[in-house]
Amino acid sequence: MATKANGNGKSQGKAQGDLLLSEATPWAAARKGDLGCIRAIFPRACLQGHKALHENISPEATCRHCGASADVFARGPVGETVLHVALLSDAPGSDDVATYLIDTFGADLVNADYTTVAQPGDIPSLYEGEAAVHIAIVNRKPEMLSKLIHAGAFLHSRARG
Ligand SMILES: [Zn+2]
Repeated sequence: MATKANGNGKSQGKAQGDLLLSEATPWAAARKGDLGCIRAIFPRACLQGHKALHENISPEATCRHCGASADVFARGPVGETVLHVALLSDAPGSDDVATYLIDTFGADLVNADYTTVAQPGDIPSLYEGEAAVHIAIVNRKPEMLSKLIHAGAFLHSRARG
């Protein structure tokens, strides 16, 4: 996934918009509420060590253990995961996508907050630290909030952006 914001003057927000609109990315599928596409990209939870195993996978080089063609923990230009995008979307099917991601990847993904800071001293994005529970609350999705809590959502997380 080449998802880093580029350095030629394009803003993070513009880069995010391009990413969400471009087809065939997990973020686009989450935005559209396309559960079939999400299931194809992320067929199931992987073995222990998932995060390291998935750093270099792609549609051309899928994970040999779980068949995933992208890293479910990858972050978009402003630090978002696919779960964040699904929870932000009001497309039909977006709740189904969020539910699948929550059920499949559990607390690890549920508690993966917006992250752009790679090392101490980096300037955080506007949304740094925002978690899935924050989005479910702000977007008034009580049924999603309930699922997040049952999956082990940390309830004391704070946004830092
Ligand atoms: Zn895998």
